Amino acid sequence: MVNLSRYTLRGMATVGALAGFAALALPNAQAAQTSSTTKTAATAATATTADPAIPNGAQPIVIGNPPAGDGVTTKSSLTNVVRYNRLYKTGPITPSKCKEVNVSLRTYTGVNQYLSQLFRCTYAEWALPLKQAGAAYKVAPKLVVTTARTINSYCGTVTDTAFFCAYNGKSWIYMPTGQIMSFWKSSPTLARAYATNTLAHEYGHHVQWLTGILNASWQRQRAFSTYAAQLEESRRRELQASCLGSASIGANKRYYPMAGGLYQQWVYVVTNSGDQPGGVRDHGSLKNHRFWSFAGFNAARSYAVAGNCNTFNATSAYVS
Ligand SMILES: [Zn+2]
Repeated sequence: MVNLSRYTLRGMATVGALAGFAALALPNAQAAQTSSTTKTAATAATATTADPAIPNGAQPIVIGNPPAGDGVTTKSSLTNVVRYNRLYKTGPITPSKCKEVNVSLRTYTGVNQYLSQLFRCTYAEWALPLKQAGAAYKVAPKLVVTTARTINSYCGTVTDTAFFCAYNGKSWIYMPTGQIMSFWKSSPTLARAYATNTLAHEYGHHVQWLTGILNASWQRQRAFSTYAAQLEESRRRELQASCLGSASIGANKRYYPMAGGLYQQWVYVVTNSGDQPGGVRDHGSLKNHRFWSFAGFNAARSYAVAGNCNTFNATSAYVS
């Protein structure tokens, strides 16, 4: 079984009841971005100062199928859905031309304003590729920005982590403000990069969900007989979400702009995200997280941006 230790189900009775909604109704754990400890330039120079840590992502759940689009209603095999999805043949992500909101992330109000604009812009960016992929591109997740440390969702109870949840044809992105506001105190630029990357990653899961990849991947994972194979499937899913997220950031990099100090801190975030030494190997090594993040980010000039994020067609070494 997949490691479910990072979250608690609401209760087996609830999950069982939900199982009636769809064939794919078993609870799926879907990991959010995970990150290692990270350093700002300031703390790196001070050996006695603890490095700010980027928290591990939650293991949110997907319950039920996405809204139907003609690209996700075929009877393709699960492997075809994840490996030869129409998403990979879609054109460039549309730059939203949105600028980063110039606001302090010290308070909930600021974080909410910052993330809300980025959310709207990310929705706009993905509309065309999702339409081309035959997905229900108009369906937006609901963004929930909250100061609560513990979040109750249809996917269970999650603490101190951003996560994506889908249930009964709807989806949510939960963004707790605690870590962002905490980073802001030591490094505002790191806070901005972390907030931007985290939301983009979670939106990547929404793209996976709408295209059928998320559910198919979870079905594949359950079908694998070994824990090692299940973990690899989890890593393919997570690394792809990071790649898709980075692709949306990269598509708009001239306008946001993702440059200068913000770009440097973003590089730091993606370079230090991934499985921690001794931890569960469900997100991918730091090296591979960086690899796929750049594969997405630098795809901006490619004819098929999302196609650069096909982690399901990569050899095991690239998803280790
Ligand atoms: Zn994730």
